[in-house]
Amino acid sequence: MRLEEIPGQNHLKSYFKKVISENRMPHALLLVGDEGFGPLAFANGIATLLQCNNAIDFVACGVCSSCVKSTQYIHPDIHFSFPVVKHDKFKREDTTSKNFLPEWRTFLQSNIFGDLNDWLNHINASDKGANMNVTECNGIIKNLSLKTYEGKYKIQIIWHSELLGKEGNRLLKLIEEPTPESIIILTCTNRNAILNTIRSRCQIVNVPPIDDDSIGTYLENNFSINGDQVNEIKYLASGNLRTASQIASRSQMNYSEDMLNWFRYAYKADPDDLNEWVTYLASKSKQDIKTFMRYTLHFLREYLLGMNLKETNSLRLSNEEKNVILKMQKIINRPKTEQLSFIFSKNIGYIDRNLSIKILIMNMTLEINEILRSEINKFV
Ligand SMILES: [Zn+2]
Repeated sequence: MRLEEIPGQNHLKSYFKKVISENRMPHALLLVGDEGFGPLAFANGIATLLQCNNAIDFVACGVCSSCVKSTQYIHPDIHFSFPVVKHDKFKREDTTSKNFLPEWRTFLQSNIFGDLNDWLNHINASDKGANMNVTECNGIIKNLSLKTYEGKYKIQIIWHSELLGKEGNRLLKLIEEPTPESIIILTCTNRNAILNTIRSRCQIVNVPPIDDDSIGTYLENNFSINGDQVNEIKYLASGNLRTASQIASRSQMNYSEDMLNWFRYAYKADPDDLNEWVTYLASKSKQDIKTFMRYTLHFLREYLLGMNLKETNSLRLSNEEKNVILKMQKIINRPKTEQLSFIFSKNIGYIDRNLSIKILIMNMTLEINEILRSEINKFV
């Protein structure tokens, strides 16, 4: 992947281009951020730029032999280490990332913003004990001690470096006294989970959430969903491309409309409407229902914020949702909003338990009814 293909993150892209143009690329870089913000995409984008033979204004050309290999993840001077589980054909202590390289390449091509669970699903591994072992660390030392094959640098990318465990201490000398032209780019989601000895020897750069508009453009280009759905999802994803893609690929729901309907049915409490609503919502997957409830929580948070600010311009909501707010204000005040939020956050946790979803939704509906009816008001 080239840096230019990462949605948004213009500030960080400029930062790295400047660092590289001024010859200040650190020998050990630690990129910290949720997978959905793109630390792995940045590691690859930086590596591609560093190896490009024809970069103009510090933009990798994308067509030279080096770029072709980098973007297919087969460049001989860009090495990957990532958490793995026992391979069918090898003992666990002999299994390393190299045994999973074909799968890793298809993962990067299809899901470079994916997380560790996505990766383990990709290799059909249910084992939660994925990590990088001693053999892996020795392999990294070997990779970086060799001469370059054809690239300008030897680059080692280590994904989820917190899963190096204490074996990572074997890499300290490498990080402290790097061989010429070698660069190690580590990524992790939580800087505190990484070995202190390693962390203290790296230059740390945070990868922030992606801006809402860039997520929206990405959704428009990659999913067949309408403009309102794009707006709902981009705000709900909070800068996380993985979350946004997951919601967009699954959801056939119109969240704001469904939420408003739920409140309406709950308020009126017409038995036929309630039954129809419960049957409709229960027909969705558990994941969809959870996402929908998270949406409602997000909406209620923004709704509260709107009440505090007494304006809706700065809210992370679409225009249609802001119209919903205007309708709701006649019936839902601040204490009611807080009570509703409590019901939703409590019940999200119940969905994965082995209970009847229909009963759960009906119970929630009755609780919502009680809250909405607690003062005499007319709901439109
Ligand atoms: Zn190139």
